[in-house]
Amino acid sequence: MRGVKAYDQLYIDGKWVNPVGEGVFEVTDSASEEVIATVPQGAVDDIDAAVAAARAAFPAWSATTKDERAGYLAKISAGLDERSDELANTIAREVGMPLFLANLIQVGLPKANFGVAAQLLDSYEFETTVGNSLVVREPVGVVGAITPWNYPLHQIALKVAPALAAGNTVVLKPSEVAPINAFILAEIIAAAGLPAGVFNLVTGAGPVVGEALAAHPDVDMVSFTGSTRAGKRVSEVASATVKKVALELGGKSPNVILDDADFAKAVADGVGKCYLNSGQTCTALTRMIVPRERLAEVEEIAVAAAAKFAPAHPTEGKSMLGPLVSDVQRERVRGFIQTGIDEGAKLLTGGVDAPDGLDQGYYVQPTIFSEVTPDMTIFREEIFGPVLSIVPYDTEDEAVELANDTIYGLAGGVWAGDADRAKAVARRIRAGQIEVNGGAFNVMAPFGGYKQSGLGREAGTFGLEEFLEVKSLQL
Ligand code: NDP
Repeated sequence: MRGVKAYDQLYIDGKWVNPVGEGVFEVTDSASEEVIATVPQGAVDDIDAAVAAARAAFPAWSATTKDERAGYLAKISAGLDERSDELANTIAREVGMPLFLANLIQVGLPKANFGVAAQLLDSYEFETTVGNSLVVREPVGVVGAITPWNYPLHQIALKVAPALAAGNTVVLKPSEVAPINAFILAEIIAAAGLPAGVFNLVTGAGPVVGEALAAHPDVDMVSFTGSTRAGKRVSEVASATVKKVALELGGKSPNVILDDADFAKAVADGVGKCYLNSGQTCTALTRMIVPRERLAEVEEIAVAAAAKFAPAHPTEGKSMLGPLVSDVQRERVRGFIQTGIDEGAKLLTGGVDAPDGLDQGYYVQPTIFSEVTPDMTIFREEIFGPVLSIVPYDTEDEAVELANDTIYGLAGGVWAGDADRAKAVARRIRAGQIEVNGGAFNVMAPFGGYKQSGLGREAGTFGLEEFLEVKSLQL
């Protein structure tokens, strides 16, 4: 057993300080279930100190030039690069994602996000003219950032990088479930020499310090990523001070396969898009919507594809599927699998039992249900585990109706032999990003949800603009 690392201080006003809050959260290794670290359970007083530091730092930071800010962001990106092996190992252990994927995605994307933010500053026009008005874009002020555990550093970077680029100061409250990467980022930011108070880190329980941050009268904007449940609460408490609220929430994303698609490719790709990060992906394509007359063929391809996702230890070997993040998450997912069985969905592969030989670690078998219908719980609820629902349709209109039959609207996929047909169906799906015939993820493209999947957009220019106010000077 490796040692337990105690992170016992918070990063406030450019210093590592002792927390006012007492107690710690234990962070577990998702494969061994052992405690690997502890982090402070901050208190409301810690949030107050961090917000005061961010407030005090705002005038000078917001007055820096684009070049100065780009320089700091580039340094942070380089710092992430230098510590990328350590970060990938940390996140593979905290979250359970296989190491090679963690390296590529969990560390690669944050590096890119800081790099992109620095580059955007080069080209972005902060001032434009409309008739006799000069329209200027200015930083919002103090930003409270609250983030989840599934892509922990990526979600942080999607907020912190553009917020700093825009000239805001930040108080970050990461998830207690996978917080170690946030401490490493704070060390990198400290080493980059960012002025005191521009970036602050406070860990603590969401309903305590998260709410205090969202409600704080000196916080001008709260940017939240997490569950729709907590996002609603953040909006509620933020509303008392009418601050700007950005929300990136859950999803139950459809993957519509039309009858002229390449089924071998579309179905296998869809299984992978559902199982990435053990299904703990907000954009996971969890509802595969397929022509009823091709159902048997789809089932066969899907089961064969799932067989390639045999779960294994995330840092040993090259499996595509590791454990889930925690025992709470594992039990939640097993509960949904049992509900699927009880409600009459056809279980093609997987199930509630632990995978063979993996009794230790938060593993769940890659699972596929077929003949899933809209009245079933597994059609509606975000499971956040490796569980795919195959849903048959009779007509293209019905396929679109099924795709949109959800409170969510984060993502989706469409496959067709005819690219124009695929694009036409993609336009009919009410969601923020749709993969057309497996189109690749784009770090510059706007990312965010329709309906109860959120408010606002992250990434690229749209992500930068989230953190800007607009002022008109009538000349
Ligand atoms: P949670 O909503 O439980 O937690 C997210 C963050 O919010 C954590 O930092 C948590 O703190 C904090 N929090 C919890 N309750 C409150 C509250 N009342 N007030 C303020 N903050 C609070 O989500 P998970 O961490 O479980 O993440 C999974 C969810 O996130 C899924 O639903 C997923 O779809 C969604 N998600 C959405 C993404 C998107 O971009 N749309 C991207 C990634 C995930 P703590 O954990 O420390 O208690």
